[in-house]
Amino acid sequence: MAKMIRKNYLMAPGPTPVPIDILLEGAKDTIHHRTPQFDRIFAEAVKGTKEVFRTENELFILASSGTGAMEMALTNIVNPGEKVIVCTVGKFGERWQEIAKAVGAEVALVSGEYGDFYTPEMVEKALKENPDAVAVFTTLSETSTGTVMDIEGISKVVKAAGKLIAVDGISGLVAEPCETDKWGLDIVVTGSQKGFMLPPGLAFISVSKAAIEKAQNTKTTSFYFNLKKYLKDPLPWTPAVNLIYQQRLAVEMLLKEGMENIWARHAVMGKATREAIKAMGLELFSKRPGNVLTSVKVPEGVPGGKIVSIMRDEYGVTIAGGQGTMKGNIFRIAHLGYMSDYDVVIALTALEKVLRKLGRHVEYGIGAQVAMEIFEKEGV
Ligand SMILES: *Cc1c(COP(=O)(O)O)cnc(C)c1O
Repeated sequence: MAKMIRKNYLMAPGPTPVPIDILLEGAKDTIHHRTPQFDRIFAEAVKGTKEVFRTENELFILASSGTGAMEMALTNIVNPGEKVIVCTVGKFGERWQEIAKAVGAEVALVSGEYGDFYTPEMVEKALKENPDAVAVFTTLSETSTGTVMDIEGISKVVKAAGKLIAVDGISGLVAEPCETDKWGLDIVVTGSQKGFMLPPGLAFISVSKAAIEKAQNTKTTSFYFNLKKYLKDPLPWTPAVNLIYQQRLAVEMLLKEGMENIWARHAVMGKATREAIKAMGLELFSKRPGNVLTSVKVPEGVPGGKIVSIMRDEYGVTIAGGQGTMKGNIFRIAHLGYMSDYDVVIALTALEKVLRKLGRHVEYGIGAQVAMEIFEKEGV
């Protein structure tokens, strides 16, 4: 059989596919950022992003990846020597912990195994044991394991204790409900390359009045991410001008679809993927799987790393392997951002193909059948 051309399908939890209209928006003439022309575009981008965040808090756009916004959160509300509670059940919870250490904060951990989740009760207990903690750092969707946390419930106990809560919504925001104001979230951070359907390069951070007040009394250890500078001028440095054109359009597209519809779309993609995976005789890894991605245990006897590399290099479908200690043990299929029913079918079908190639027999079409039946039942 002659070689076929291959389209590339990006089905990893970031970067995610970017719609052509958004790509083209980035190709517009770069203008100067200190002009009324840019101010208008910037104001629209900020306004739309606040709606996506469901917040009226201050919101800043950073020229960095998502981790920059995590660093901004920690360096601006935590003084060296102050105590924080970090919740972690995976690689990105650990990132909060690493940044806290870099700041010189004292860390009390709420933790669990990879694949596990933490509960409001666990956070409440940590708050009782650490009355001197100034803030709690959490993750909406732990991307290394595909686990979603009950941020609404956790925020209730943090608020009851009168502390600040910061949420890493880098993969979760947009795909999972995240009610920044209704849930009282002081800081929410995200990046452009996940649910926002944008290329990598921007991070967004929302900051409540209480967090700003704390920042005013904090000896910020960062210069570039100094919140006090952003409060004086939301563009303290040269912004990523063309990415902000793209962001303005992306939030317009998201809001046109509607946040509730976007959450529902991700919920049905998540459900279809999980049910299809089970129908293929495979096992889910997460104990509280979310709608951003599905993590799957590598079946016995199949080389885990090969699933990802063959799918990408031979079939053109990029999913993600396990990170850190999960390497070779799980793989992760995203259903995030600019994706819908047929994208899920492509990922599942490519998975059947690669499993067959690696000696694990699965009937062709099982994944597609189960997924399409779920989409049909849900009225997609
Ligand atoms: C992707 C991701 C990050 C890291 O974001 P970068 O943009 O790579 O800096 C952090 N937290 C979570 C939950 C993520 O999914």
